[in-house]
Amino acid sequence: MHEPLLTLDQAVERLLAAAEPVRARETVALADGLGRVLAAPVVSPVAVPPLDNAAMDGYALRTSDWAAGRPLKLSQRIQAGQVGAALQPGEAARIFTGAPVPAGADAVAMQEDCEAQEGWVLIKRPPQPGEHIRRAGEDIAAGQTVLTAGERLTAARLGVAASTGATALTVHRRLRVAVFFTGDELVPPGRPLAPGQIYNSNRAVLTALLQGLGAEVEDLGEVPDDLEATVATLRAASARADVVLTSGGVSVGEADYVRAAVERLGRIEFWRVAMKPGKPLTYGRLGATDFLGLPGNPVSAFVVFGLFVRPFLLRRMGAAVRPPLRLPVPAGFAWDRPGNRREFLRARIEEGRAVLYPNQSSGVLTSVAWAEGLIDLDIGRTVAPGELVPFIPMSELLV
Ligand code: AMP
Ligand code: MG
Repeated sequence: MHEPLLTLDQAVERLLAAAEPVRARETVALADGLGRVLAAPVVSPVAVPPLDNAAMDGYALRTSDWAAGRPLKLSQRIQAGQVGAALQPGEAARIFTGAPVPAGADAVAMQEDCEAQEGWVLIKRPPQPGEHIRRAGEDIAAGQTVLTAGERLTAARLGVAASTGATALTVHRRLRVAVFFTGDELVPPGRPLAPGQIYNSNRAVLTALLQGLGAEVEDLGEVPDDLEATVATLRAASARADVVLTSGGVSVGEADYVRAAVERLGRIEFWRVAMKPGKPLTYGRLGATDFLGLPGNPVSAFVVFGLFVRPFLLRRMGAAVRPPLRLPVPAGFAWDRPGNRREFLRARIEEGRAVLYPNQSSGVLTSVAWAEGLIDLDIGRTVAPGELVPFIPMSELLV
């Protein structure tokens, strides 16, 4: 199988084209909405704020009444939650942040600019019309669409929905993702290691990443390097899940049975992507279930998850997907080995410059734990210190 290498963008495009959003929807209470994907827009029945209101503690007045040294009569006191009476000429109202501005008033003077005494207030600075008033509807107009289908519910978006009075939201049903980890050498933490064995770290990383994306995770654990065992686990996984995700066993080694197993039960597409780490990317179908095979190397698995699996799963969940942010950051390092694959380096920002983890090997998972993001180095690129390099913040790959 020696097809030409795909570029990263070509591979992402192919994967996204294959991702069918789950159709089923359900209604969730606002309090259960975090991380879910909206399947219907949220339209506000109310204006937010509902009324013009004070942006400061102070005094509401008619600006046309103001003259230097002339006090205004204090006629009322309006707290947040109360509605005052119309302001008459020559009057001012004591008012507090969030309280509706009384009819007739066209400004709020901040209390730091005022002297109040026995029923009168002197406003020492000329107020400007509209000053310190938040306008009705300046956040949200009645009838406005505040959230659209495909948006993922974050804390702030849940707050926006709450501010319109929403109690329940229409979301896509959760995506079911089954995951297993191939390798005779793998042992779950909690057991002693025999010679030649290693602890299964991809399991911790990938199940956490899937949970972070809001998937329902079915964790089938370690599977030995054996064709029949792999076929059996794959069959069980595909029966229960929308997507099956695996790690390891997709290279071209003799103990790599995952592709053969997928071919037994369905069909496979195998792409070699011109990137480092993470060259092999495997996608396939098992009936109605999608299959994604990740490389076993922990750093490769993480990077391939962030750049390919994450956008695939998000689209599958019904979410709108856009490419990860790439922020230009001055390099705090030199790179004088131009590569023939696009390379993703584990980096941090220190004093405004991107610095690299000293060991960039694809087996060194501590580089990922240390990193705040990835430097995206194009094919053939060299870097002198101070040159701008694209930095992908970790948050763009995780959640
Ligand atoms: P493979 O892709 O199966 O050829 O594995 C490549 C490398 O990643 C080997 O050194 C494996 O031991 C290692 N590896 C595979 N799966 C895991 C895992 N789940 N956790 C930690 N390392 C792994
Ligand atoms: Mg293996």
